[in-house]
Amino acid sequence: MSAPPYVRALEAAEFIMGPPSIKGIPLWRGAGLRAVRLLIEGFLTLVAQRDEAEVVEHGFLASAEANRQVFGSYANVYELVVVPGKPGMQFRSDNIVSSVGLLRREGRRTPVVSVGSILRDSPGKTPPLFRDRNIWPVVELNQLADEGEASALLDFYATVLEDLLWSIGIPSITVKTPELASYGKTTYLTVAVLPNKRPTVLATLYVLADELRLALGERHDVIDVGFTGKLLATAAMVHADVRGLALPSTIAPVQVGVTLAERGDRAERWLAELHGAGLRCETAFASGSGGRARAERSWHRRSVPLVIGLDRTTGSVTVCTRSPLHRAELPDLPSPQQVRDLLAGSDARLAGTAKRLFDAAMDEGEYLRSMCEPCAEAADLAVFGVVVPSPRVRCERCGDSKGQRLFISDEGRFY
Ligand SMILES: [Zn+2]
Repeated sequence: MSAPPYVRALEAAEFIMGPPSIKGIPLWRGAGLRAVRLLIEGFLTLVAQRDEAEVVEHGFLASAEANRQVFGSYANVYELVVVPGKPGMQFRSDNIVSSVGLLRREGRRTPVVSVGSILRDSPGKTPPLFRDRNIWPVVELNQLADEGEASALLDFYATVLEDLLWSIGIPSITVKTPELASYGKTTYLTVAVLPNKRPTVLATLYVLADELRLALGERHDVIDVGFTGKLLATAAMVHADVRGLALPSTIAPVQVGVTLAERGDRAERWLAELHGAGLRCETAFASGSGGRARAERSWHRRSVPLVIGLDRTTGSVTVCTRSPLHRAELPDLPSPQQVRDLLAGSDARLAGTAKRLFDAAMDEGEYLRSMCEPCAEAADLAVFGVVVPSPRVRCERCGDSKGQRLFISDEGRFY
């Protein structure tokens, strides 16, 4: 059975290894690692609008007993029978026990962000980065909240996640749901849509349920915000064209692919200027129209948003943008600002296409309704949750001004 298109695109872009693959354990390659690093940097920058976070990576092995005390026994964790010198260990299945322990020991109020992998047994299908055994990256933020502050903090992080997703061209909404009450006394899900127009959860945000909080030995409210590499898988599904993976410049490991006929001072000076301005450029050498076409396809396959070819004819500058594919001659080498503008145009096209997909999905699936509580009950809607922030809106059924934006899910919980 051949891999789904997004997996083949990620493989062709050298983000993950192709076959032979290990079930549930995607292996990341250099370009994918760079994209993940850019995504995490983007997250930390957004978090720092409020508090600077410390980034940690917990060990690969965790105490099975400490985990059992908090979560009881889970069937899908790997407990290890014999680890010399380390009895009672498991492959790390969660970060919260270690992270909250760290926050408490240090009495810290600023967030800690753990970045690493967790292992879970996943029987059945394991589409890479959607449902894995070795889940990487797992990015999980924990923070202790003072009395009465938890809900404002959660609202802030909901905005952080929506902004992060929008920065990679993925529109989303946040839904507050009573589902998952055993984990969160307040639960927000960041919901985006896949190309098949079905909603999917890309991040979870909780104020931990009291039972878990007490099991962690914590008297303050605990914020728990997490996302995984599924963000990149979704980006790979949503942002693709005939050439392959077409990432926004925010996370594209290479933003500008430059095809040169040969080395020369003019090109070197210009490239140094682009590098100096913080633009991620790489060069390739090609001559002849066939060679240049191959180079262009190779840049595109590797997710590069902007390709610039020099000296197709002596002194010429050809700019190729994607989605749709378009080539134009420039009178001169573009300045860093012109390059940034071209990248911004490309990002806007990707985000625009994704937004139209999102809106069409919401419309056609009738996921969003505006109703007051009595009407929602009378209409027997399968209300999954309330969209946050949740200003009062006019009820579409009775016209009352105490309506809310509701997220409807006829199938109940979704992933
Ligand atoms: Zn009503």
